[in-house]
This record gives sequence, structure tokens and C-alpha cells, in this order.
Amino acid sequence: MVKRALLSVSDKTGIVDFARGLEKLDIQIISTGGTARMLRDAGIGVTDVSEVTGFPEMMGGRVKTLHPMIHGGILCVRDDHDHMGEAEKVNVELIDLVAVNLYPFEITVSKEGVLLEDAIENIDIGGPAMLRSAAKNYNSVTVVCDPDDYGSILKELRSSGIISQKTREKLAVRAFRHTADYDATIDTYLSRVLLDEEVLRMNFNGGVTLRYGENWHQDAKFYKEVGVSGPVLANAKQLHGKELSYNNYIDADNALRTVKELGPGKTAVTIVKHNNPCGLSTGNTLLQALGAAWDGDPISAYGSIICTNTVFDLESAQFLNGKFIEIILAPGFEPDALEYLRNKSANLRLLELPDLNEEFEVRDTYKYVLGGMLKQARNMGIYEKWETVTQKPFPEELRALSEFSLHACKSVKSNAVTLAYEYSDGCYMMLSMGAGQPNRVDSIRKLAATKARENLAVIYEREKPDISFDEYCEHILSKCVMASDAFFPFDDSIVHAAENGIMYVLSPGGSIRDNEVISTADRLGVSMVFTGMRHFLH
Ligand code: 5GP
Repeated sequence: MVKRALLSVSDKTGIVDFARGLEKLDIQIISTGGTARMLRDAGIGVTDVSEVTGFPEMMGGRVKTLHPMIHGGILCVRDDHDHMGEAEKVNVELIDLVAVNLYPFEITVSKEGVLLEDAIENIDIGGPAMLRSAAKNYNSVTVVCDPDDYGSILKELRSSGIISQKTREKLAVRAFRHTADYDATIDTYLSRVLLDEEVLRMNFNGGVTLRYGENWHQDAKFYKEVGVSGPVLANAKQLHGKELSYNNYIDADNALRTVKELGPGKTAVTIVKHNNPCGLSTGNTLLQALGAAWDGDPISAYGSIICTNTVFDLESAQFLNGKFIEIILAPGFEPDALEYLRNKSANLRLLELPDLNEEFEVRDTYKYVLGGMLKQARNMGIYEKWETVTQKPFPEELRALSEFSLHACKSVKSNAVTLAYEYSDGCYMMLSMGAGQPNRVDSIRKLAATKARENLAVIYEREKPDISFDEYCEHILSKCVMASDAFFPFDDSIVHAAENGIMYVLSPGGSIRDNEVISTADRLGVSMVFTGMRHFLH
């Protein structure tokens, strides 16, 4: 039974309606200064806290509810004879519901030029004490710290006359989390201001057990970031298929970041395997972009994760007929495409993220290393300058394709090189890439160049152009733009690029042997632009 409620809130959203609802249920309301005034103005009957405690609210509100008449009323264990006897002896009346939200400390300290004394005054003392008292005694007391919960509490009271144990437990945990977060914010602020120390706190909860980790013998969980909004994987809705695996989370996150890297202007598709995009394209239609991305590495695309920034349509779904895919992540699915894909496989995971094209709020990235956490600003932008450093000019018509190649290169693990090709009018594809090699030469020679020829062999077979395969490769590769995530320390990379017919190269520049690299490019007729921006990705 809820007979008496204490309401003391800084954020007064919804409090009048809540109090009115409680009053209608014959629940007596006790309240502090500002809250009591507001309720009274709305015609609600209120008992002042000072009347209950026998003390005036004092010291500018620092001491209002910190009194045994309040905390005794909240903390008293109802089925404990001694507790009840002691309460009766000193006339402590029981409080069954506590609705408190705290002084706005976070808002105060996020204001420009906030004074320390203002911050200190916004440290709530009595509020957290009441939340913690009520949460501790959840077996008897209901605690509410979020105005969003007022409605459901009134509903429960109206329908059953009580608040269930389950609801009280849920609300108690929420209250302890709220005071923990509150104290953490105070710690972070005061550590910085008083001790010149930076504290990093991360807030994740709701751990979901995954079947296993990267491998079958590893336990694994996924935790969602508290309060995270926007186009992040954790906010995607699963429409079909098995639950996501540990590796699925990693690869789908990569696919999402990569699609967002390509920007919202055009239809973009990325195909990810083992935390690297193996297919990447921007096109005029989803089907076109999907086909081009697929041609970027049809072998690796087996068992891949596909992400696009465009609503998935039926013809694109049909393109995937007979192809094994783990996940499709998209802002939405046309109903016929959804039905087709649902029938395609029981296991295919379909993830919908309606605001996929909204801006990421994420400004920093973090990486755990043993015993420490690394933090860095997100890698924004693709080049700082555009300086042709070779005798052979770099055609302005290749600028857009070059930018695509840089976006692709940014998304591939170092040492990364990407070969970008204009597949058809306005449709750019990553023809091949070299990823994750401990040296750049291998990324070019053994991977990007070799893979390009393999991928071209598939397209050659399909399109049967009227020239030999070697001529075809030479023709295509001479139109590609190769991007390198970091400078060339020696000229060997340029030699291998030219040997494979690659004539347009992008590099950040900045090596002590830049002159050697440039003169080799001149000798081999390669055109090169220095961008001034490195894109390591580890
Ligand atoms: P009101 O606007 O009702 O005057 O004040 C409401 C706020 O006072 C709430 O945020 C509540 O957490 C806080 N509060 C309640 N009791 C005390 C207390 O004894 N000391 C302090 N510092 N804050 C309190």
C-alpha cells in the first residue's frame, strides 16, 4: 500500500500531474520548498517537509530532508518489529514512495565559464540520500528518479492499488545507477578542477550473452552504451535471423562505419569480411552499387556482411540469390525485399537502422590495451592539401574517383592500398585492396595488384570484351587511382605500381625519401598527388 509519498524534484517536468494522480488515490504528499510551492499553486494539498521534521529548511536549501523523521520513514523495515516499534516511539510516519530528481550538476558544469562555487552548490546531498534510502528499502518503498516513469506508476497504482515487487526492484536499480552516475560526474569534474587529473568513465550496461566470442571456446557478451542515440549498431532493429555473434558485431560495426565514411550523397554499399571491407562501391542505384561492390572481391564476399545507406529493394535482394550472406544492414527494407530475404535463409540476419544516414555523434574512438585505454579523436577528412608532385599532371576529372579511393583507403587496415575504378558512369568501385600487411610493398604487389587481375578476370569472362585479357587489364588499371594510407618510405612501391600499369597514385607524402619516390614516378610516367594526411588504421 502506498499511503504517503515524498516529492522533491529539481526537474519539475510532469510533477503536477503525478501529484494530482497520487492525490486522487488518497495518497498524502510531503514536499520540499520549490516543489511544494508548485503543487500548491496547482491546487494540490501538500504537507511541507519542515512540518514533518520540525525544522525549517536551512542553509540555502543545503539541509531540507536530512532528518530522521524523513529517513526513518523511508528506511524502516515494515515487517521488522523492532524497527516499527522504534518508529512508533518517536512518531516517525512511514513514507512509501519517493520521487526525487537531483540538482542539475551536469548541466551546470557543462556551461561555459561555470564558477566552482556554482558547481559545488549544485551538488545535491539530500536528494541522493533519499534515493539511496528508498532504493535500499525497495521491499517496501517505491523510488522514482525519472519523470518518464510517473505515468506507468500511476497506472499500476490505479489498476492494482499497489506497486509490485518487480517494479520496485527495477526502479531501485535505476535509482542506484542514477546516483552512481551523478557521483561519477562530480568526481570527473572535481578531479579536473581541483586535482588537474582526468578521469575516464565508460557507461555500458545490459550485457547480452553471446553464444561465444571470436572462437567457440571464448565466452562473450555485448554491452550497450548507456544513453546512446543515433545511427549506431546498438540501435539497429533485427527483423530476421539468428542472434548476432561476437564477430558479427565487429564486422557489422565496420560495415556501418565504412558506409558512413562514403557519405550520404550517393548510394553506397560495403561488403565486410574479417573486419575489412572487401567490397566497396558508390553508385546510382542499389543494384548497381551492390554489383560493383561484389565484383571487388567475389571470393571473399562469401559469408560477408553487407551494409548500405539505401532502403533495400527487391531486385538487389534477388541479386543475392545463391550467395551466402551473414547480415544485411540497411536504413530499411521494401516489404517485397524483406519477404524475399526472409525466405532466402532462416539464418540471414536483417538489421534495420532507420536513421543510418544521420550524423554520428561519436567524436572519439577508444581502444583497450592491457591495463589501459587509448582515446583519440575520430579520423575526420581525407586530405589536407592536393599537390601534384610529379611532372605528369593529375587530371582534375579523376578528383572524385580519387576521393572515393581515399575514403576506401581510410576504411582498410594498415598497411592499406586501394585501387579505385569508375565501373560505369558515376559508379565507383574498389577494384581491389591490400590490407593488414606489415609492409606496404606486399600490400601493393602481392595483394592489390594481384587481386585486381583476379577480379578483372571474372568481369572479363562475363563481359567478353574484344581485346586480350592482358590488354584489358592494362586498359582498366591505367584508369585506376591507387591510394596509400601512408607515405612511401622507398620508391619500390611506385615501381611495383607502374609495373602493374597503375598510373595515378595518392600518398600523404612526408618521407625523407620523397624526392627519390617522385623522381622514380617521373621516370616511369606515374602521376602522383601528395595529400598531407595519413590514414593509419590498426
Ligand atoms: P525544491 O525545488 O523542492 O525546493 O528542491 C528540490 C531539490 O532539492 C531536489 O533536487 C532534491 O534532490 C533536493 N533536496 C531535497 N532534500 C535536500 C537536502 O536535504 N539537501 C540538499 N542539498 N538537497 C535536497
